[in-house]
Amino acid sequence: MTAAINRPPAVDRVLAWPLVQQLIADHGRALVLDGVRAALQLWRDGQISDEEALVHWLRQHLLATLAPSMRPVLNLTGTVLHTNLGRAPLPPEAVAAMNAVALGASNLEFDLVSGQRGDRDDHVEQWICRLTGAEAATVVNNNAAAVLLVLNALANRREVVVSRGELIEIGGSFRLPDIMARAGCKLREVGATNRTHPRDYSEAVGPRTALLLKAHTSNYRIDGFSTALDESQLAAIAREHSVPLAVDLGSGSLIDLQALGLPAEPVVAQVLAQGVDVVTFSGDKLLGGPQAGIIAGRADLIARIRKSPLKRALRCDKMTLAALEAVLRLYADPDTLVQRVPTLRLLTRSAESIQQTCAALLPDLQRWVGDGFAVDVCAVSSQIGSGSLPLDVLPSAALRLRSASGNRRERSRALRQLAERLRRLPQPVIGRIADDSLLLDCRCLEQPQVLLSALESDA
Ligand SMILES: *Cc1c(COP(=O)(O)O)cnc(C)c1O
Repeated sequence: MTAAINRPPAVDRVLAWPLVQQLIADHGRALVLDGVRAALQLWRDGQISDEEALVHWLRQHLLATLAPSMRPVLNLTGTVLHTNLGRAPLPPEAVAAMNAVALGASNLEFDLVSGQRGDRDDHVEQWICRLTGAEAATVVNNNAAAVLLVLNALANRREVVVSRGELIEIGGSFRLPDIMARAGCKLREVGATNRTHPRDYSEAVGPRTALLLKAHTSNYRIDGFSTALDESQLAAIAREHSVPLAVDLGSGSLIDLQALGLPAEPVVAQVLAQGVDVVTFSGDKLLGGPQAGIIAGRADLIARIRKSPLKRALRCDKMTLAALEAVLRLYADPDTLVQRVPTLRLLTRSAESIQQTCAALLPDLQRWVGDGFAVDVCAVSSQIGSGSLPLDVLPSAALRLRSASGNRRERSRALRQLAERLRRLPQPVIGRIADDSLLLDCRCLEQPQVLLSALESDA
């Protein structure tokens, strides 16, 4: 009797069941057919044994298959520009601009006045020049691409002089010496790790030199017995030898962050004003825009860069350019800028305001986690993130969750399980574990209600 009962139904019969017909109407025949085949294999393996179980499994399987892989999360890590969490949140103006060009045709490379072909850089170049004082500008996919392109276009098969103190690695796979090799340039290191002098550069520059490069050491600092040349000293040497000077600023900022009470970052306009010929910086770091690499500087050099075949390979898409244009437009009004660009607004949020958000959430969070955890509000330090100095921290506040267990290993396991439970919410919540507690830094949570909804969505 067992063999007869356990034989699975035919595929066509299953597809004809009314509940499965409904799944086909909702999700399409192709996906449902694949799912039914997988379900029938489970039936043959003895893991499914009736119609009801099959339909239940099929429905779950389709939901899991169709669930978007990339989803919004709540960044409560305390790192504002978190590379793994997508860096800068965009202002609504940028999202609207992307939507507008995404849905149909646009004048991406079309000059509406002449009816002739245009350049995609045209939409952002004037803004970048206005905000940085550069003669010309171009944009590529990210700042690593910008550095690669500048090196390749200006120094292919020739030497680039760099201080040994600036041979940087930024996150995993961006190492200046490697990028330089890929760009076809010969690296000419000068000075020592802690000290580089003007004569080191002067002695290294010769007929084979194509470029002097300075890299902003965003994520570390060489202190103590150290010297490096500043931009104006380097610019003087570059001019004397008639070679261009390029500076990779990493984050770079279009405005003076110190005036906002934040750690100092080089201001793009000031760096160019010191005689630097070309700068590169990211669109989605302190600028607060979409992922992009901005190259700004002397018109003749930008023209050479733009002609490089690599530019075509590294160019931005229309959505990025639309978003970047919209963000740059917000910079035109310094009075409203900080409130309208989320990155700047979050970085300048006061510890008191963050503390208030935490306090408002405490009772509901305590209820949600139950008796196994004690919740309180504590002072913490947020970070800017994305290669900004890890030493430069911003005073902030966090909801602190501690396990009530007396056993250290159990507490640690309880915390990891709680962190996982928060990550598995329909709208995942990402905190950080430190000092025997799970911290939810509320700097990037401007509306307490958003976390409450995320917690309530727990099925
Ligand atoms: C972040 C950074 C880069 C890489 O920029 P992406 O936009 O992430 O590609 C390059 N150089 C420096 C100095 C940086 O800080």
